[in-house]
Amino acid sequence: TSSLGAQITDWDQQRQIWFSQNDSPPTRLHQYANGRLQPSILLVTGSSPKPCRNPLGNHLLLQFSKNKMDYCRLHGIRIFYNMALLDGEMADCWSKLPLLRKLMLSHPEVDWIWWMDSDAAFTDMTFELPMEKYEQYNLVLHGWGEEVYNKKSWIGLNAGVFLIRNCQWSLDFMDVWAAFGENQKVRDELGSVLSQFLTKRPVFESDDQAALVYILNTQKEIWEKKVFLENSYCLHGYWEIIVDRYEKLMESSHAGYGDDRWPFVTHFVGCKPCGEQEIEGRCMKQMQRAFNFADNQVLQHYGYEHKHLGTSEVVRVANKSMDRQQQMNPLKDRS
Ligand code: UDP
Ligand code: MN
Repeated sequence: TSSLGAQITDWDQQRQIWFSQNDSPPTRLHQYANGRLQPSILLVTGSSPKPCRNPLGNHLLLQFSKNKMDYCRLHGIRIFYNMALLDGEMADCWSKLPLLRKLMLSHPEVDWIWWMDSDAAFTDMTFELPMEKYEQYNLVLHGWGEEVYNKKSWIGLNAGVFLIRNCQWSLDFMDVWAAFGENQKVRDELGSVLSQFLTKRPVFESDDQAALVYILNTQKEIWEKKVFLENSYCLHGYWEIIVDRYEKLMESSHAGYGDDRWPFVTHFVGCKPCGEQEIEGRCMKQMQRAFNFADNQVLQHYGYEHKHLGTSEVVRVANKSMDRQQQMNPLKDRS
């Protein structure tokens, strides 16, 4: 047994048996609008069982949930929002591991689990994951090989948004990973081990991201070849280098790139959606702007957009769907 539960060694066979007794492959493959068959993906996110002390934080969590619902609706991806602490010993950033394992085992029909932190928002509503690229891999994170393997930088990858395949490899990997956050005592002990080994990591209790970089370095032979570090688009995008550019992007770019030209995801690393960790008073304000930036891409389908990125107020805009509506209903006022 590991901290995640009784050991399982034949999950791939169990899944195969499940498939042979249940669904045939074509129905479990989701078909996208462009006709491509995609593996089935479950987007998983969540937040603390307790409400934020700051009521604005609760509203932000609602907005970021709506943001994920919109993206998943537009792309036919199922979504699971967790608010339960499944293992009392594994709180905060570690709480996703017991959850991901439970979901894998309870949903053999799911091929990939896509974890996304509550403080990350989709900011390109049209971009789609290039899943063909990941066929040979089991874990996909935003990061750079040079930073992770050569510099041993604990920010060389980001653990807030990642894809993990539902397979035996992932169960094994999560067992090793979870051992770094098993309980408070272990986290306090290993925090300094991680800081000593990794570059520029301040001394604090062990976190999931540092543990990942540590494992990838110390057990490189075992895990590296199934881990894909993505940086051709913003699977996770660091908010500080994105949020001030939203207006410029709206002026001179368009959705669909997913990279610097129109970031797929904006992740508020270092901030807290509840607002307990404001950076120069910017976090919550910028989260609101990120939400509105993404929400514009949803509202525009219906002929509306936010007056500006700092307001929830919307105005009508002329666009194709609006024109159609006007044709059908010519008496409606055009404002
Ligand atoms: N999380 C959760 N329940 C909790 C605490 C955290 O589901 O009680 C999730 C939440 O989605 C959060 C992520 O775990 O974004 C990572 O936790 P961390 O403490 O690193 O928070 P962050 O800095 O990302 O807000
Ligand atoms: Mn985060």
